[in-house]
Amino acid sequence: MQRVDILITNGYVVTLNKKMEVLQNAAIAIHNGLIMAIGSTTDVTQKFQSEKVINATSKIVMPGLINGHTHIPMTYFRGYADDLVLQDWLEKYIWPAEEKFVKADFVYDAALHGCAELIKNGVTMFNDMYFYSQETARAVKKAGLRAILGEGILDFPMAFHKTPDSMISYAVEGHEKYKDNELIDFAIMPHAIYTCSKENLIHAAEVAREHGMLIHTHVSETKKEVDDCIREHSMRPIHYLESIGFLGDDVSIAHGVWIDDKEQRILAERGTSVNICTECNLKLSSGFTPINGYRKNGVIVNFGTDGVASNNNLSILDEMDITSKVHKAINNDPTFLPAEDVVKMATIDAAEGFHKFNEVGSLEKGKKADIIMLDMDRLENMPMYNVYSHLVYTMHSDAVKDMIVNGKLLMENRKLLTIDEQELRDKAEYYSKELKKNIS
Ligand SMILES: [Zn+2]
Repeated sequence: MQRVDILITNGYVVTLNKKMEVLQNAAIAIHNGLIMAIGSTTDVTQKFQSEKVINATSKIVMPGLINGHTHIPMTYFRGYADDLVLQDWLEKYIWPAEEKFVKADFVYDAALHGCAELIKNGVTMFNDMYFYSQETARAVKKAGLRAILGEGILDFPMAFHKTPDSMISYAVEGHEKYKDNELIDFAIMPHAIYTCSKENLIHAAEVAREHGMLIHTHVSETKKEVDDCIREHSMRPIHYLESIGFLGDDVSIAHGVWIDDKEQRILAERGTSVNICTECNLKLSSGFTPINGYRKNGVIVNFGTDGVASNNNLSILDEMDITSKVHKAINNDPTFLPAEDVVKMATIDAAEGFHKFNEVGSLEKGKKADIIMLDMDRLENMPMYNVYSHLVYTMHSDAVKDMIVNGKLLMENRKLLTIDEQELRDKAEYYSKELKKNIS
């Protein structure tokens, strides 16, 4: 009998493996951060024992959800300004608030709050762009989540940075610092084509490739951005990025709303993935992502929430539900984007897009133990005929009961185990008062 760190028993296990196996009354043995075995509870418990046994009767056990685009240090700006056009929202509210408040302590506190919220939403891994990203890394480390973090790169001074080079080298420094950390990666994240010059985009991509870092940027969120790009560069954004050698399978782009068929084919050819942010795009009336075209052309698509200042939550289950329904409607086809595919987008497809396919995204022997458990026992979740349908159309984040990341329990029965919730409440209260006091 082999002793392991954690044993999950009697679960309804949705593996997301190649065969898309769903195992009833199944068990998972977890040791040293890895899935050691997965199979029937009888088989697994004959070979493995543990002091920590989680009885997952009436629970869906599945890979953790992946949030492909966030700005978690913006947590304290939740609901601060809504119902505005993007430019007014940014220029009149968000940028002045950021100028006043975004300091190292603020970023750490807000990021920790964001991490807690991600855990409650069943998100085990996320991809985040903001400033003071090394402070975000400290929060992520405390929370125990898996993350790809990057410093926003812009042509103009921001936070404590005077130049884009300072933003780039800060990210490279983070990459070096966290080289041996299994959970935290740093990436190179130019903000957008309209805030970074051609030279800065080229330089950022070169540095990323020199250091083996991933690249992430916002592209074609609004029609205005595309029109401006055509005016300035005589081509659409993806052609422009292609012309400067920016695209590759190490690149993921957030939004990708206004991308035409030719551009989609370039993304597919280059292996560049797209992190769609449906709720944020709906709220800011930015448009509808061409998911149908992406799927036809073979572009990897996954979900992001964007920051809570524009969403206003970090729920991937909500994104799954809304995206599926909105795109059925705009394609005039209720068979479009079946629930099973939507669950893949939030897990295994996202893992592939971020080069983590061999580590996370499915529950398989040898992969990292990034696992969530959802409650099937509640009245509003009963009965259940199809688990994928349930995950997309029925369940909300409050059904997420437990989370394990890298073999460590981060939440049990909705209680956070690595973060003090009351401290977060007090800090959120404090910062909201400060914000109200300082900005009218
Ligand atoms: Zn964003």
